[in-house]
Amino acid sequence: MKVSVIGAGTMGAGIAQVAATNGHEVCLFDSFDGAIKNAETKLNKILNRLVEKERISDQEKNDILSRINFSEKLEDISRSGLVIEAIIENLEIKQKIFADIEKLVDNDCIIASNTSSLSIASIASSCKKSGRVIGIHFFNPAPLMPLVEIIPAVQTSSEILKNAKSIIDSWGKVTVIAKDTPGFIVNRVARPFYGEAIRIYEEGVADFATIDWTMREIGGFRMGPFKLMDYIGNDINYTVTETVFAAFYFDQRYKPSFTQKRMMEAGYLGKKSERGYYDYSKETPKANEDRELGKKILWRILAMLINEAADALFLNIATKEDIDLAMTKGVNYPKGLLAWADEIGIKNVLNQLEELYCEYGEDRYRPSPLLRRMVKNNKTFY
Ligand code: NAD
Repeated sequence: MKVSVIGAGTMGAGIAQVAATNGHEVCLFDSFDGAIKNAETKLNKILNRLVEKERISDQEKNDILSRINFSEKLEDISRSGLVIEAIIENLEIKQKIFADIEKLVDNDCIIASNTSSLSIASIASSCKKSGRVIGIHFFNPAPLMPLVEIIPAVQTSSEILKNAKSIIDSWGKVTVIAKDTPGFIVNRVARPFYGEAIRIYEEGVADFATIDWTMREIGGFRMGPFKLMDYIGNDINYTVTETVFAAFYFDQRYKPSFTQKRMMEAGYLGKKSERGYYDYSKETPKANEDRELGKKILWRILAMLINEAADALFLNIATKEDIDLAMTKGVNYPKGLLAWADEIGIKNVLNQLEELYCEYGEDRYRPSPLLRRMVKNNKTFY
């Protein structure tokens, strides 16, 4: 089956690599000057590195490259069985290209978007046959991150959902199915990892290095929240938060922070600008390795994360298994949040949230009704 990828940026090039590695004939299309050449050069470099590391042979590298048609002509996507769009995050521009794509492919072609924040229903509405449109959301870098969220829109047919999932499964990815709601699973449930960490900093409880140390050393997370925001880029991470906040009709749970906004405005974008929460031209500041303080910080962030996961389950965004898989396979959390809640006791999580809610009187700390219900009925998630 031929797979086409629209947009040869960070995500598109990665998705094309995954599809070609899995034996598909691939068309990678981009309309911007130099974008295709750039993608081809980058992909060559990546594959050469894989050969050096003996992950693939020289022959495999050549085979992968020979399967990809780097194209600047949209007509080259004809005869595709699957088209994945990964262009700029703008609804009007995506809608326009979806209408163009539909004119070029056969009736049974699946047309997917890799959007992080737009509704799949609104993108699908630009197609005549909207039942074939679906969200297929990869994580960066696509060849390395195992998770892919599959998001059926209200229009998507069950047949398309089944087929899209089975194609992505066959690429060795871990797929989860998410409802077409802001942030899907990962970008919704992960918000407090950043937001609550910033809030703790803003209150003067601890500095960036201490909060990062806590989450790594006591929490077992691979990267602390501030290092991670610097790695993602404060511009991108702030925009996701702001988009999710607006999309949830300004639910206070997702409120962005001035701290991160100022970082963005100052151009302190993180690693890519040599300066973010940390100054990368200097040594990393020392953390206050006080385990008692650390436990308090971890508890607060973890309770907020579990609350988001529980609320996502409460609102049927995904199954409990998929919510847990999404966080371990999409953002490398050390444990699924719901399994983690069982381990530490749902009652303890609820108590922490009630305490915060009582102390601050802010809606951001309101516990999910599901946690209350589970404690009342003495239930666990698994
Ligand atoms: P990017 O800026 O790296 O790449 C976008 C590419 O699309 C560019 O090469 C650009 O030339 C091309 N493009 C723009 N408009 C086009 C058009 N009308 N026709 C053809 N090509 C066009 O962006 P990205 O980070 O790869 O993100 C692409 C999509 O993937 C977005 O919807 C984004 O929300 C989503 N996404 C991004 C990430 C991430 O971490 N970067 C993760 C998951 C999903």
